[in-house]
Amino acid sequence: MPMNLKNIFICPECHKKLKSHLFTDTLFCDCGFQSKKDNGLFYLHSRGESWDKCEVEKKAWINLHNELGMYLDNEDHFYLPDGRPHLKEFYKEAKRSIDKLLELENFNDKLCLDMGAGIGWVECYMLKQVKSRMIALECSDDIYNGLGRSVVLKKHNGCEFLSLVADMHNVPIVDNSIDIVFMVDALHHFDNLRKLISEVHRVLKPGGHFWAINEPYRPDNMGELEYLKQYVALETKHGVAERRPTIKEYLDAGNIINLQVLNDKINFVAPGLILRGQKDPANFSMFI
Ligand SMILES: [Zn+2]
Repeated sequence: MPMNLKNIFICPECHKKLKSHLFTDTLFCDCGFQSKKDNGLFYLHSRGESWDKCEVEKKAWINLHNELGMYLDNEDHFYLPDGRPHLKEFYKEAKRSIDKLLELENFNDKLCLDMGAGIGWVECYMLKQVKSRMIALECSDDIYNGLGRSVVLKKHNGCEFLSLVADMHNVPIVDNSIDIVFMVDALHHFDNLRKLISEVHRVLKPGGHFWAINEPYRPDNMGELEYLKQYVALETKHGVAERRPTIKEYLDAGNIINLQVLNDKINFVAPGLILRGQKDPANFSMFI
């Protein structure tokens, strides 16, 4: 286990703190659950309905990328976000938002969790500029367009972070343990925004920060189905979990962490939102 993180994981089945064997990376629970390490990925998820949805999501992305001719050992990943990306505009916008995030937040010496990390390119990009411990959490372990890709990206970039295959609606991390939770272009892929944000709230330390950047939204005067049909028909055809909340819907779901939209306040013009939240510093339940 890199970065001495053994103490922060809980059982995805019964939520008790996991125990570690002395000489191996395997974590286990009294209920019988055991973690798995495979090809550089750390697996910590339960079996059941929630995980079945994650498997569906993984297949949907594979099918989508197949149709786009992007499901392959894509060398462009090594040059993200500069150089020769296969989705030039997307990565240009994402990079602009990440650069802004690095201006607004101090990541150094922090324990950070990226929820919905995809191939892990954001970690590789950020770790060139900041010194922090990062956990990239993603439900797809696919070697081309899921977290499996992060293993070769880490080698290529010479950086280190933990690649954690887990369910974002059931985060296997202990309460009050993370300094910064961040998401890049990922928050709008979750069916149950409120449940997701309650997980963010749970794992954050009191006073800890949440960021969701490069997040698309729909205007107030348009229905969600109509918007999805018009703008992300290909994704929805393949069953990718696409949502387009309005700004108000984001903020309502995020009120537990005082979610705000920053774009106007920081004079940042972009197609995606920059959202910031913070866990109430006084809301501290002692974890023993
Ligand atoms: Zn257990």
